[in-house]
Amino acid sequence: MPSESLQIAFIQYISRLFKEGDFSATYKFAFMNALADISIESGLEEHLVIPVRHITEKMIELYWEQARPFSGKERFLCQNTGTQAAMISRIIAVQDTGVSLGEFKRDNVGFDKFVTSVNKFVVTGPLWRLQILSDTPEEFLYKKHNGNQSIQLNSHIQQCFHIYYDLVISLTRDRWQQKIRSIPVNFELVGKKGDLENFLFGCQRKSLNKARDVYLDIQKGQCFYCQKPLKDDVAVDHFIPWARYPNDLGHNFVLAHTSCNSRKKDYLPSLEHLGRWKVQNIEKHGDEISERLAAYFLCDAGRSLSVVGWAYEVNAGKLWVS
Ligand SMILES: [Zn+2]
Repeated sequence: MPSESLQIAFIQYISRLFKEGDFSATYKFAFMNALADISIESGLEEHLVIPVRHITEKMIELYWEQARPFSGKERFLCQNTGTQAAMISRIIAVQDTGVSLGEFKRDNVGFDKFVTSVNKFVVTGPLWRLQILSDTPEEFLYKKHNGNQSIQLNSHIQQCFHIYYDLVISLTRDRWQQKIRSIPVNFELVGKKGDLENFLFGCQRKSLNKARDVYLDIQKGQCFYCQKPLKDDVAVDHFIPWARYPNDLGHNFVLAHTSCNSRKKDYLPSLEHLGRWKVQNIEKHGDEISERLAAYFLCDAGRSLSVVGWAYEVNAGKLWVS
């Protein structure tokens, strides 16, 4: 367990990093979000080593939906104060070929090449500049490891990410939105209100309908929680609630009555539900979910298991029993 003083220093550092760090593009937000996600998707280690390519892949995942025309209009959000951020331009070019992220990732050679081609923006950008606060390097979170190949988290930093994941993510995403709103070419596009947050970080309605079809088959038309038949009132439920882990993973869904879903709110389901989730979504239907949903969501049973493990270990609070 990190000491209390380290935990406070961690929070202060994250908050200063967004205020005092100087960035023209949104890379540092994507980088920080990636770092927090990877920390909870990996088993706890004293000094977690993370390949930079892994961070780059995660940033591609985060930017993927953001690199689509904004809210049904024909223009793209600019993620840099000058010309469009290079990583976004590259992603837009790939999307022009009509490929989905899931399909793109399954093309190992093509995806690998793409990661190499954008990795340099990470190496020359957020990787070393993230920890420069008011022009002074302060390597509080991580140190260089093996040249530019990887980073090593400092002692107890991964645990701090485990404990404060939701705080780090909401702060990061909040600052990320502010940055996008502050870029003049986005003024007209985003407007005063707009559904910017949902566009940047929300889940895709179209894809949820696909998940609904797949899970209807898997659950044979029954509610995951109360196990009574589903009729018209079907909700695609994030098993680990979105409020705790705001990313879509193909294995993190179940179908439920809208009433069961709204009673569950943002609680973690009971241990009995957890057991049933593991049997249903990993053991019995894990492969089927990957096959049928990979074109729509990130499907990685191992990653889902890590997130579930993290959520119950660190963050359980009260569990919800239907
Ligand atoms: Zn139900």
